[in-house]
Amino acid sequence: MAISTTRDFVPAASPISEEPDALTVGRRVRHLRLARGMTLEELAAAIGKAPSQVSLLENGKREPTLSRLQAVAHALGAGVEDLLDPAPPSHRDALEVELERVQRGPLFDALGIRPVRVGRGLPTDALEAILALREELERLHSERALTPEEARRANTELRYDMRARDNYFGDLEITAARLLDGVGHKGGPLPQRQAADLAAHLGFEIHHVPDLPHSTRSVIDRRHHRVYLPSDGIRGRTDARSALLQALASHVLDHAEPRDYAELLRQRVEANYLCAALLLPERDAVRVLKAAKDARSISVEDLRDAFAVSYETAAHRFTNLATRHLGIGVHFMKVHESGVIHKAYENDGVRFPTDALGTVEGQYVCKQWTARVAFDVPDRVSAYHQYTDTPTGTYWCTSHVSDTPDGLFSVSVGVPYAQVKWFLGRETTARTTSRCPDESCCRRPPAPLAQRWAGYAFPSARPHASMLATMPQGAMPGVDQTEVYEFLDRHAPAPR
Ligand SMILES: [Zn+2]
Repeated sequence: MAISTTRDFVPAASPISEEPDALTVGRRVRHLRLARGMTLEELAAAIGKAPSQVSLLENGKREPTLSRLQAVAHALGAGVEDLLDPAPPSHRDALEVELERVQRGPLFDALGIRPVRVGRGLPTDALEAILALREELERLHSERALTPEEARRANTELRYDMRARDNYFGDLEITAARLLDGVGHKGGPLPQRQAADLAAHLGFEIHHVPDLPHSTRSVIDRRHHRVYLPSDGIRGRTDARSALLQALASHVLDHAEPRDYAELLRQRVEANYLCAALLLPERDAVRVLKAAKDARSISVEDLRDAFAVSYETAAHRFTNLATRHLGIGVHFMKVHESGVIHKAYENDGVRFPTDALGTVEGQYVCKQWTARVAFDVPDRVSAYHQYTDTPTGTYWCTSHVSDTPDGLFSVSVGVPYAQVKWFLGRETTARTTSRCPDESCCRRPPAPLAQRWAGYAFPSARPHASMLATMPQGAMPGVDQTEVYEFLDRHAPAPR
């Protein structure tokens, strides 16, 4: 049974330097000695030392001097460079060296585990199991170290960075254009067939499997150059192309295992971006959008239909190109039906709700905003448009609600009032006023309702789906008091 442990058995914290450590040198000496059929005593005699000295050398307990190494190399009929090669001589040796390192490191110490003797008597599968457990332990450890606060901070920094560059990544656009050229893409939407060609172009074989791990969309086997995708990918809600393109994007962008949450987020943003840039190539999408602007009929739905992508992909892609190519500042939001913001971006001055650290994700968006009102609109097929007067100005937004396994989500794109002249749907008469962050806007129950129910309501909060979600203010953390009160109103027995 082969358990894969760390990448090439090298702990991330101590990459192999040019100078191999004493243990690796020792293992190379032992490997060569055994390959030559020599006993410990014979090698000891050949270099004029006691066998115990050779044993210490082979077990890495003694730093060898250069003259000693030269003598050993000579006795083994090898060169000194053979002994100084930093790679362990065999898989088994690599495991032994790794376990020795781990046992001398802080983990065993901290846990008070007595080290095992790493010798011939220890079966290889036991070695592999110990190292696999060690790796899992470290993973759990770093997972626990990740506090929601760190996650929020990383999110916020990333959003600031995206705003500073108008959500446009020139290098990723160039990468996308090169890849599309590589498969002879002639413009317009990317056919499924060419997405598959792209995999072949990058040296990957596509395998559709029925048993992909539940928590994954795809798995890349870099050793065998395979991409695994779910065999029911077509049936699923997600575009079959985007799972494949995202997997390939991570490969093209050379993403390694992320060291922390900030890197994980950045990788996700880059992979999403490259995927969208392949599905809606810059040149073609800009041509479509410029023509729409000239005709004063920009529409995210039209962009979606022109490139056969999801509304969210089209909305996201629109934010990449709107400022750079059309000179329009925009905002974007993905909001759960509970009102919690999952994704947000702006460079148009709209004021998102934030926590004390400036985090938007996990906050509740104002009930008067398009992103919330859209849930109350019975028509889920067309997008909903609305003007919203906010303390920082009037915005026009367009929002589309979609049903997902995790619930309903609205995806919204908005622009300042001055820019609405370019958009289809500007003739809407829907208009609301948002006074948020003033609590009296929508965070506090209206006075008559509060008078009726304050002190009589004891709801139990549902655990939050999103790790990023923060608790809304109120007597009962995580509970929207207005909703609870309204519910009680509806279900209360009629007064006698
Ligand atoms: Zn509000």
